[in-house]
Amino acid sequence: MVASARHADFRNGDVSFWWSRLGGLPPARPALSGDLTVDVAIVGAGYTGLWSAYYLKQADPTLRIAIIEQHVSGFGASGRNGGWLSGEFGWSRERYARAGGRQSVIDFQRALWATVDEVIDVTNRHGIDADIVKGGALRYAINPAQQARLDAELAYERSWDVGADDLTALDASEVRQRIAVAGVTGGHWSPHAARIQPAKLVRGLSQLVEEIGVPIYERTTALRVSPHVVTTDHGLVHAGVIIRATEGFTAHLPGHHRDWLPMNSAMIATQPLPASMWEQIGWAGNEVLGDSAHAYLYAQRTADDRIAIGGRGVPYRFGSGIDPSGHTQQRTVEILTGLLHRAFPQVESVPIEHAWCGVLGVPRDWCAAVGLDRSTGLAWAGGYVGIGVATSNLAARTLTSLILRRDDALVRLPWVNRTVRKWEPEPLRWLGVHGLYRMYRTADAHEDRSQSSLTSPIARFASRLAGRH
Ligand SMILES: Cc1cc2nc3c(=O)[nH]c(=O)nc-3n(C[C@H](O)[C@H](O)[C@H](O)COP(=O)(O)OP(=O)(O)OC[C@H]3O[C@@H](n4cnc5c(N)ncnc54)[C@H](O)[C@@H]3O)c2cc1C
Repeated sequence: MVASARHADFRNGDVSFWWSRLGGLPPARPALSGDLTVDVAIVGAGYTGLWSAYYLKQADPTLRIAIIEQHVSGFGASGRNGGWLSGEFGWSRERYARAGGRQSVIDFQRALWATVDEVIDVTNRHGIDADIVKGGALRYAINPAQQARLDAELAYERSWDVGADDLTALDASEVRQRIAVAGVTGGHWSPHAARIQPAKLVRGLSQLVEEIGVPIYERTTALRVSPHVVTTDHGLVHAGVIIRATEGFTAHLPGHHRDWLPMNSAMIATQPLPASMWEQIGWAGNEVLGDSAHAYLYAQRTADDRIAIGGRGVPYRFGSGIDPSGHTQQRTVEILTGLLHRAFPQVESVPIEHAWCGVLGVPRDWCAAVGLDRSTGLAWAGGYVGIGVATSNLAARTLTSLILRRDDALVRLPWVNRTVRKWEPEPLRWLGVHGLYRMYRTADAHEDRSQSSLTSPIARFASRLAGRH
């Protein structure tokens, strides 16, 4: 769909820019044609489901595995995200430490870092080209409050054994040498991240799992997931183990309506920037880039020299609603365009080419989890709160260990078999999430205006209210 914008017409929706670069969503694979019995059934063909199929089949080629996908593989967040393949720890370390102790959290962090290389190794080994460049992650500040938060974050990370090689402080000129962000006051850089083209990765993974003998039944919706049986619109799938890998869509499954809130994240991509602009901006290292605002932004330089930038936009639709096409509200496009131009004023003349959005899963305690209930055979992974590109791979390896009853380090990580309370019913859920992001945006504006180094009390209040910390 084409919509009118400030500079030119741009595409809005069509699932994502990443898929449109690949000619749009591919034709669907055949649907399920009647009842089926397998060892492991996987609901959802995003990174979580596909990686799980890959590792299980590698570990035991005799396993009969089937994947059920309501649209086509990569239709969800896995084909729409910002392409940060990142080992950052985005959840509450304290909450995990209460479950597994301090060392288990440190082990979790190291496992996430190693996951970035694991994804790169597997894609290299199987010839999956996903435009991957491991340039690390650069986070920057543009006002005193953001800078104070970055400094505090660095000290906090150090207290969790994150060394100088794993997270390096940068002053303003060191940030500008990498990427010339306007008005930057400082930043930090982690080597544990890579830039990817998300749809290329998910497309490559779906082809890979099919090649190793795992069928993907597309245009097949799981209507209900019960112990040892998935009821679909094309038949029943009986299985010893069922993996629920439905992330932001989970709320639509009976019995799971209030488990993981489908949080919206939206992106825009520019047309390619001319070489003269890149000379001013730099970004030769292809770092993934993020700011330190409360309603933070994330960005990448794409392989074809555009800037793709994302943020929260309109965060949540009433009743856990989802716009399947990824159509994005004009207001959100304007917010993101404003953030882009603030960071890179020279880009104002470059038209926006595409806007889109998707949903990610947010548990009530904002902490990702993976688990298996042996008595029912029901397994799950997700609630990644927007850090799922690398995390889904770690989740899949962990599920593999749990399902194959391995007693290894993965099953001892503190996110295993974590259970949390449900989200509030509507309209409290809608009011809460909209209130949260309105407060975050107000706090960001307040910090910009005041030039104080203190984090706005509005943001502190909002985070406490949301149960984030
Ligand atoms: C705009 C955006 C930007 C993001 N940026 C980043 C980023 O830069 N870095 C990062 O780490 N993370 C990012 N994320 C989050 C990341 O993309 C996700 O955490 C990750 O892709 C989750 O993968 P998944 O396989 O668990 O879920 P999904 O990719 O959402 O896959 C779930 C699949 O299940 C299918 N499904 C759902 N319900 C059913 C059903 N009932 N029956 C059959 N099939 C079903 C869906 O169609 C879908 O294909 C972003 C997310 C969004 C939306």
